[in-house]
Amino acid sequence: MTIPVQPVLDRRHRPLRDLRISVTDRCNLRCRYCMPREHFGPGHRYLDAADLLTFDDITRLARVFASLGVRKIRLTGGEPLLRRGIADLVARLAATPGLDLAMTTNGLLLPTLAERLAEAGLRRVTVSLDSLDDTVFRAVADTPVPVRRVLEGVDAAARAGLTPVKVNMVVKRGVNDGCVLPMAERFRGSGHILRFIEYMDVGATNEWQLGEVLTAAEIVRMIDDRHPLEPVSASHSGEVATRYRYRDGAGEIGVIGSVTRPFCGDCTRARLSADGKVHTCLFSSGGTDLRALLRAGASDEELGTAVRAIWDAREDGYSELRGRRRTRSREDRVEMSYIGG
Ligand code: SAM
Ligand code: SF4
Ligand code: SF4
Repeated sequence: MTIPVQPVLDRRHRPLRDLRISVTDRCNLRCRYCMPREHFGPGHRYLDAADLLTFDDITRLARVFASLGVRKIRLTGGEPLLRRGIADLVARLAATPGLDLAMTTNGLLLPTLAERLAEAGLRRVTVSLDSLDDTVFRAVADTPVPVRRVLEGVDAAARAGLTPVKVNMVVKRGVNDGCVLPMAERFRGSGHILRFIEYMDVGATNEWQLGEVLTAAEIVRMIDDRHPLEPVSASHSGEVATRYRYRDGAGEIGVIGSVTRPFCGDCTRARLSADGKVHTCLFSSGGTDLRALLRAGASDEELGTAVRAIWDAREDGYSELRGRRRTRSREDRVEMSYIGG
């Protein structure tokens, strides 16, 4: 059965197409750029289990978003594989017709879960990995875990058919810029798609500085000097990565220039936090509380009206404005681990 769709456009005529759902604000790593241990140590207050949207809530909201035009759902977090019963949630979402279901994960639990997730209806995964060098990886992710464990996760995803596997690498100048070429060479010809992400000023805790951003142009130059690249045209509008292919046929890479090549004009993404707040931009401060509506007994129609009103009013374009004029102070911003990366 298909869901009748009544698409909605924001003030800049951008449709609502993608929904990222954070299923937990917890993580088994402490990447310095995302959950620095000084802020996410033992004293940090995570959401209580009772605050989390239930699988019933999430499935219902997914259908409501689908009725407004959402075609793609990405499960994220925090670390989505830490949410107990995650494969059951995938199975329930997969039963919603017309939805493309993907996940972003640090990969550590994929060897245990990849097959179950694929059977439940997950289509693809993106695995985050910032270096192949144990020393660098351990420093960036603030963990004793070796790189091998993430690579085993990538392999498990490929074996389970969650393909093409994408690998996300956040590049921070002076930290892991020396890892760009080794990563490119490791994944060239592997069938996996490596994507480089400019380090972003998301959240309030990572002490981001512009000088630490290795730009998309610099990353492409580094690789192109050794392994010549050519641009590939975008496969769909709203695609965040600029794509390049190796001229020798060894596959493709993507570069996500969130800082130097903002793509707000094409941004069709909403985010749902683990406790049910909708955010229309990664850099927003407050979200709109859908859980309160759910718990007050709102009907699907009322939920749809609320989401439509949120999207109707949307004007976001933080990355276009960054540095051009005064933007909201960082202290107000929600963390990526909460809102969903
Ligand atoms: N834990 C999962 C993971 O790491 O893949 C999913 C959540 S994580 C917040 C989603 C993505 O956001 C990851 O690829 C991560 O590298 C990226 N990310 C987190 N903080 C970032 C930052 N400050 N700049 C750029 N990317 C960031
Ligand atoms: Fe955890 Fe992902 Fe954030 Fe790293 S980027 S701390 S793995 S949520
Ligand atoms: Fe979308 Fe906000 Fe990122 Fe711009 S800054 S691309 S509006 S999430």
